[in-house]
Amino acid sequence: MPVTETKRDYYEVLGVDRSATRDEIKRAYRQLALKYHPDRNKSPDAAERFREIAEAYAVLSDDAKRREYDASGHAGIRERWTPEDLMREFHFGDFFGGRFDDLSEIFGDFWGRRAHPGPGATRGLDLRYDLDLTLEEAAKGGEWEIEVTRSETCTSCGGSGAQPGTKPKPCRECGGTGQKQQVRTSKGMRMVTLTTCSVCHGRGHTIESPCQTCQGSGVRFVAHTLKVRIPPGVDDGTVIRLAGQGEANADGGPPGDLLIRLHLQSHPVFERHGDDLYTIKTITFPEAALGTKIPLTGLGGESIHLLVPAGTQSGTALRLSGKGMPKLGGKGKGDLFVVVEVKTPTELTLRQRELLEEFAKLEKEKRRQ
Ligand code: ZN
Ligand code: ZN
Repeated sequence: MPVTETKRDYYEVLGVDRSATRDEIKRAYRQLALKYHPDRNKSPDAAERFREIAEAYAVLSDDAKRREYDASGHAGIRERWTPEDLMREFHFGDFFGGRFDDLSEIFGDFWGRRAHPGPGATRGLDLRYDLDLTLEEAAKGGEWEIEVTRSETCTSCGGSGAQPGTKPKPCRECGGTGQKQQVRTSKGMRMVTLTTCSVCHGRGHTIESPCQTCQGSGVRFVAHTLKVRIPPGVDDGTVIRLAGQGEANADGGPPGDLLIRLHLQSHPVFERHGDDLYTIKTITFPEAALGTKIPLTGLGGESIHLLVPAGTQSGTALRLSGKGMPKLGGKGKGDLFVVVEVKTPTELTLRQRELLEEFAKLEKEKRRQ
């Protein structure tokens, strides 16, 4: 079968002029994307429209791709970039929080290359898991075992909730619709309120002898132990996605994902700013004036000697390069900043007082010269 080119012009898709500026393109995309976002727009062709809009924006928001498109149209784009390239280089989630930074279920068939799940098949729900890490753990990374409870179709009753050998019966209260109509008349207007049937809880059927395994719910909660690899350098709020480890989908669609959100505990010694670490060290004022070497223990436990140069002022941040957090993705490390605080002595011995008074006298003479 010959392939027919049915793709619409990208400018037309976004409703902008061929001479539109980047900002105009971005604004048009944002408006359309919000309108057709499959989370908000339930019309059957919303996902298709959204995909078209995002694809148009992926190309027109990038100077090189836009030039190529202007010169040779869809064919030029298809020749130089695979759908995966466009996906990788462009963050569709720019304007959306949460799970729509991953739109693979919509973009799976970007150019009709991949199989489409059957009509009506949706993904199972995404599950969220919160994982607490110490700063040391975030720096080191590694493998964690987490226990996730997912609901699964009860195997005894096959999800019906009825004892094997029996069947659920249509609800007598609502006649099987799962909803009840309440009609009341107010100021000459007939108001119809639809409420969920309280007998069958909206299911439309009742179970006389519930399945003993699942107590009639049709689902069982099963705990799974999963392994998750945490790369070194993760930060508070980092989300790690385990594809396909979310809730199963009752309608036969693909399962949801498991989103593991990382939470970093505060550290008693180090404060993190991006890839850099900060810590405070107190020194005496003669040490600040004469210079000193102070021993430190790094985040990973290594011994570090910090050279405090003579004449260091209180509040100075001394940098130890490469002693901070590992950069996510394995490209070196941030720095460690040691903020030096000079402590003013409060309890002086007699001898210290004498020496300080003499020091003060010399300072005064120095100033008079
Ligand atoms: Zn059951
Ligand atoms: Zn009912």
